[in-house]
Amino acid sequence: MSTTTETHAFEAEVQEVLSLVIHSLYTNREIFLRELISNASDALDKLRFESLTDASLLPEGEQLGIAIDVDAEQRLLRIADNGIGMSREELVQNLGRIASSGTRRFLAQIAESQDRGGAAPDLIGQFGVGFYASFMVADEVVVETRRAGSDEGWRWTSKGDGQYSLEPAEGLARGTLISLHLREDKDGEEGGSERQPLDGLLTEWRLREIVTRYSDFVEYPVQMEVERSEPVLDDEGKPVEGEEPKKVLKTETLNSMKPLWARPKAEIEETEYEEFYKHLTHDWSGPAETIHFKVEGSLDFTALVYLPKERSLDLFDPSQNKSQISLYVRRVLIQKECEELLPVWLRFVRGVVECSDLPLNVSRETLQDDPRLGQIKKRLVKKVLDALGSKLDKEREAFEAFWKSFGGVFKEGIYFGENEDDRLAKLCLFESTRGESLTTLDEYLERASDEQEAIYCLLAASRQAAESSPHLEAFRDKGYEVLFLTDPVDEWMLQRFSEYAGKPLRSIEKGEVELGGEEQKKALEERSKEHQELLTQLGAALEEHLSEVRLSSRLKDSPAVLVNAENAMSPQLARMLASSGRDVPKDKRILELNPDHALFAGLSKLFGVDAKSPRIAEYAELLHGQALIAEGSPLPDPAHFAKLLTELMVGGVKG
Ligand code: ADP
Repeated sequence: MSTTTETHAFEAEVQEVLSLVIHSLYTNREIFLRELISNASDALDKLRFESLTDASLLPEGEQLGIAIDVDAEQRLLRIADNGIGMSREELVQNLGRIASSGTRRFLAQIAESQDRGGAAPDLIGQFGVGFYASFMVADEVVVETRRAGSDEGWRWTSKGDGQYSLEPAEGLARGTLISLHLREDKDGEEGGSERQPLDGLLTEWRLREIVTRYSDFVEYPVQMEVERSEPVLDDEGKPVEGEEPKKVLKTETLNSMKPLWARPKAEIEETEYEEFYKHLTHDWSGPAETIHFKVEGSLDFTALVYLPKERSLDLFDPSQNKSQISLYVRRVLIQKECEELLPVWLRFVRGVVECSDLPLNVSRETLQDDPRLGQIKKRLVKKVLDALGSKLDKEREAFEAFWKSFGGVFKEGIYFGENEDDRLAKLCLFESTRGESLTTLDEYLERASDEQEAIYCLLAASRQAAESSPHLEAFRDKGYEVLFLTDPVDEWMLQRFSEYAGKPLRSIEKGEVELGGEEQKKALEERSKEHQELLTQLGAALEEHLSEVRLSSRLKDSPAVLVNAENAMSPQLARMLASSGRDVPKDKRILELNPDHALFAGLSKLFGVDAKSPRIAEYAELLHGQALIAEGSPLPDPAHFAKLLTELMVGGVKG
C-alpha cells in the first residue's frame, strides 16, 4: 500500500457543479445536510443489504446510525455513519466524477436556463447536487472512510478548487466520516437578509431544525451529543439546594425515524410527503400526485408512490426501460429499482412498497418468480389508474400537464395489451380537427353524430402535417371530427387498439373510405369503369412505386392522395425503422385521384385525344410527386421531378 498522498483532478462536470455551488448567492444552503444524511442513509441501507448474505459485515447487536458532531472553536461540523464505506476505487469513482443522474439533470437545466439568460443559481435549491453541496458551506471537506469487509482506510481531502488528494488512513472505524470546515462569511453579507449565517450550523437548535425539516423520516437515528444542565441530586434523588445545576452530555436522536409510509395518512403533512419524494428520487421539483395506501388481508403491504411533475431525461432511454419502485421487506431495503412491481408503461411512477409477507432473504432471481409480487403489481396498477381517473375528472388542467409529460409512455400499455375494459384508453387524450384542445375518446363520441360509423383518426408526423392532409377533406365536408395521432408510439398503439366502447377505430389514410353510402359508391364504380384505361396507363407509369391508381371519393380540393393498404405500415413508421437500421418491407402504396378535379378532367381529355402521349407518364410522375410532398415524404427522384415541373411552368408562362 502506498503511503504517499496522491493528487487527482476532478472531472470537468464536477468542476462545473463546484463552481456553481461555491459562487452562487444561494440562500438555502442548509440543504447540504439533507444531501449528506441521505448519502449516509443509503450507505447504511447498502450495508444492511449486503450483510443479509455476508453476516460478517455487520456484527450482531451493532446499532446502525448517523452521528453529527460539532467543534465550534475549529468551525468543524462532522457527519459520520457506520455504513458500507468506500474503497479507494469507489472514492475515486464517486467523489471525483458525477455519478447521479440527478446531478446531470441539474447541469442540463442550468445550461438551459443560462441559454435563456435566466438566473441559474436559484436552481440549486431545487436540485440535489449530492455530496458537492458541502462546498456551499465548507472551504475544506475531508472524507475518511473504510469499506465494510476491508481493513484499508482512505482519506480524501478537497478545498473544492478543482482537485482533491487521496491518502491511506489508519485506524478508521467502518463507514464514513465527513468533516466540513465551515467558511468564514459574515452574516447575511452576500445573499441579503434571507441568507442564514453559517455560524448557526455550529449550534444544536439549528442542526435539529434542519434535520427535522428534511430528514425526519430517515430510518436510522441521526444522533448528536448535546449539553444539558441537570440539578445535582442527593442520595435520595432529590435536588440539592443551593447547588448550581451541573452540565452533562447526552446523546439525543434528532429525527423521529419512522418511515413515512408506515405512518397513518391523516398525520402526514404535505411537506413531509414532498421531502420524502425528493429524498427518494432526487427530483427537486416535487411530486405532482401522491398515492399512499395500505392493503390488508391475504397479502399485507403498504405503498407510497408518486407521479412526478416532469419527465426525467432518461424516460425514453432504452437502457432505462423499466419501472423503479423500491421494495422493502420489514424495513430492510431489498431492491432499489425493483422492476417487478409496476409494468414498464408506468415507469415514470416512483415510490416504495413495503411488504411484510415476503421472506427477508429473497434474492433478485427468486423475486421474479414470486407470485406475491404479481399480486402487489396488480393492486398498484389499479390504484395508479384510479388516481389518474379522478385527476382527469376533477383536475383537468393538471391531468393535461401529466399527459403532456407521460402520455407517450402510458399509451405503450395499450400496445402491451393491458387495456382490458378500455381502462387505459379512457384516460388517453388526443388532438383533433376540433382545435388545439385535447379530447378524450368519450368526449369525442359524445360529439359524434349517430350516423358516424367509426372513430376516425389520422396518423401524421405533426399536427401541421395532419391539418393539411388531403385525407381530411371528405371528413371535413361531412363535419366528422378526426383525431390526430402524431406521437411516434400511436402507430404501435393502433396495432392493438381497434375498438373503443363498441365503435371501431379507423385510420383514415388506410384502405378505402366510404362516407357517402351506397349511391355514391355505385357512382364511383361507374366512373372508374369509364376511365379504366387511363387509370391502368397511369398505374403502369408508376409501377415501380405503386400497386394501383384508382378514383376516390375522399378528396374535395386536392387532385390526388397517397393511401396505404389496410395493413401496411405508415410512411412515418417505415422511415423511423429504416433510420434505425432495420429492414423494412417495401409496401407499394395506392394513388387515389379526385375525379371531380379539373386536373383529372384535363388528363382524361388528353387521353381521349392521344392515348399514347408521353405527357401522360410525366403527369403521372408529377401527381405522385406532389402527393408525396403534401404528406411530408421525400421524392424518389427530386431532380427529375424538378425538371418536369420546370417544363410545365415554362409551358404555362409562354401561355
Ligand atoms: P448521489 O448520492 O446522488 O449518487 P453524491 O455526489 O451525493 O451523488 O454521491 C456520490 C456517491 O458517493 C454515492 O452514490 C455513493 O456511492 C457515494 N457516497 C457518498 N456518500 C457516501 C457515504 N456516506 N458512504 C458511502 N458512500 C457514499
